[in-house]
Amino acid sequence: MEISADKVVLIHYTLKDDAGGVIDSSAGGDPLAYIQGHGNLVSGLEKALEGKQDGSSVAVSVVPEEGYGKYDPALIQRVPKRSLQGSGELKKGMQFQARTPDGMRLFTVTGVMGDMVTLDGNHPLADKTLHFDVQVVAVREATAEELEHGHVHGAGGHHH
Ligand code: ZN
Repeated sequence: MEISADKVVLIHYTLKDDAGGVIDSSAGGDPLAYIQGHGNLVSGLEKALEGKQDGSSVAVSVVPEEGYGKYDPALIQRVPKRSLQGSGELKKGMQFQARTPDGMRLFTVTGVMGDMVTLDGNHPLADKTLHFDVQVVAVREATAEELEHGHVHGAGGHHH
């Protein structure tokens, strides 16, 4: 079956940086399950997989604009510690999700000085070209419930 909008797709993938270092991989674990056309993957990878069949291998390099974005200095901000209640002791390198006007965003603590904390809202892979090697394991129709939830149920997906 061909990958197109609303299909459930199972992939094994390896993600490398420009130097060939492995950033992330599904090797040795379960394949990643996602629904095509729902923004579950970075847009450049979703685009490269559109129209591929189960069993295909896809190698694609995704530019930052279609990956995790360009590095944006405006996403660095200093906030008082007390505005981050409930996050416990704040240490450099800590990451947490926070709601922003643009949706959920991952923040990394890049500095703690007195009562102030510096947060970087750039994705850790911002500005990076992403080199994906993908094996399409399976393609199937999504169930109505999966489409409603926007994620995959069962093998490789969410369980409720
Ligand atoms: Zn669900």
